[in-house]
Amino acid sequence: MTSSDQLVHLHFPKLGVKGAYVQLDQSLGDLPAYAGYPIGAQALLGQALAAAALLHANVKGRSRISVQLQSRSALRLLYGECSEEGGLRGLAQLTEGSDAPALDQLGASAVLAITLESRSEQNRSGTRYQGLVPITSARLDQALEHYFATSEQLPTVLVLAADGSRARGLLLQKMPLDEHPDAALLDPDGWNRTSMLIGTLGPNELLEADRGTILRRLFHEETLQLVDGLQLRFACTCSRERVESMFRSLGREEAMAALAESGLASVRCEFCDRDYRFDRIDLEAVFHPLTQPGSTVTQ
Ligand SMILES: [Zn+2]
Repeated sequence: MTSSDQLVHLHFPKLGVKGAYVQLDQSLGDLPAYAGYPIGAQALLGQALAAAALLHANVKGRSRISVQLQSRSALRLLYGECSEEGGLRGLAQLTEGSDAPALDQLGASAVLAITLESRSEQNRSGTRYQGLVPITSARLDQALEHYFATSEQLPTVLVLAADGSRARGLLLQKMPLDEHPDAALLDPDGWNRTSMLIGTLGPNELLEADRGTILRRLFHEETLQLVDGLQLRFACTCSRERVESMFRSLGREEAMAALAESGLASVRCEFCDRDYRFDRIDLEAVFHPLTQPGSTVTQ
């Protein structure tokens, strides 16, 4: 079954401008912790997930991208991630009983981190790139524009909007001229015009109007091509193997110390609520993978 949760690529062939539109409904409700968050955190998490999907529109190959916000305020962590299969996962960590404050109330230590992890056939362990900027804006879309202005050097404008059940995002980016074989034919005013038009789109209109209405209202005088991108859905990438490698990185002593009185070490995935349980024999096998139960030879 196809859901309406999708990324759509936008291309203005005569202007040297590209972009993306994202719509999230079902995937937000499918996030296990989402319904339990207060409304401000829900809206911010919806925006972070929409942003991760929009940023994924520009990424090639096997990669996942995350938008993360950390602060010493009541909102300690906000995390939204989009994988190459369109899997979305995310969470908010809040001080007990608090909602997320406005972004410009997060305090001086608040940072926004964009992380891109890429893998290829040649490099299976992957490469990781992270850009960090302080948060000085009241809105997440403005903070991301600041990130692009300082880290990526690519003129970028975007609008994000979300409430307790849906999220929308629209992004435009000026294409580097070297991506254009016929750059001389491009409308030199194209970027100024389209970026000014998107500036007239408020979050309320983005949330309430459908994609066709918004794109017609903004760009009816431009040649605009739409290409379907990723279908988006909630999906977690956790696995028992990943928990095992986490235990390995802790070391045997600490891993064994995690065994509770019950004799079980339990690791719960914060994204999907799955519970991974290890008893002493499981943990021994993590550190001595060849000594599997049943393979011991006795003489
Ligand atoms: Zn998980």
